[in-house]
Amino acid sequence: MHQIDRLKTDCSKCAALCCVVLAFDKGKDFAFDKNPGEPCRNLSGHRCTIHNTLAQDGFPGCVAYDCLGAGNRVVQEVFAGQSWQRDPRLMPLMMEAFSAMREVHKRIDMLRAAEFLTLEPRIEQKRKDFLDDLERHHWSGPELNEFEFGLALEIDIFFHGSSERSALPVPLDGEVAT
Ligand code: SF4
Repeated sequence: MHQIDRLKTDCSKCAALCCVVLAFDKGKDFAFDKNPGEPCRNLSGHRCTIHNTLAQDGFPGCVAYDCLGAGNRVVQEVFAGQSWQRDPRLMPLMMEAFSAMREVHKRIDMLRAAEFLTLEPRIEQKRKDFLDDLERHHWSGPELNEFEFGLALEIDIFFHGSSERSALPVPLDGEVAT
């Protein structure tokens, strides 16, 4: 049982990071193109003005998207509740931190899923240690910047590992901007 569910998204504690940071292309999921770092034109403050009619208005991609709690964790844990809207200088830092925290939370999700596999004790302990580290650590921006080339790589190697661990889920490459 997790005291804080790290993967629970709470938009009320975020700063609409997904509506700013992520890019999308006009098509069946989104009604227009948006570049990364460009606030969506449907955004007002931190709220989506078409939240209740997203699918009807051509944005089913927004309905389907879930940052797995990365946005609220970045805003509260790394930036102490600050927002790029009040201080635009934070925008590039928040973009970087959000991207990295999505990678952290993606691995939390995978490590939790591996709980249901039958793993030898040594491997199971390693899985728990990684999970504890990702969930309990209080992340700073610089630490998040180093995550992908440090701990994330270690975890990915753990997942890819030896043949006796072949039942473990394999990390997905990259992240589709949705
Ligand atoms: S349509 Fe609404 S939920 Fe989707 S990116 Fe724009 S502001 Fe965010």
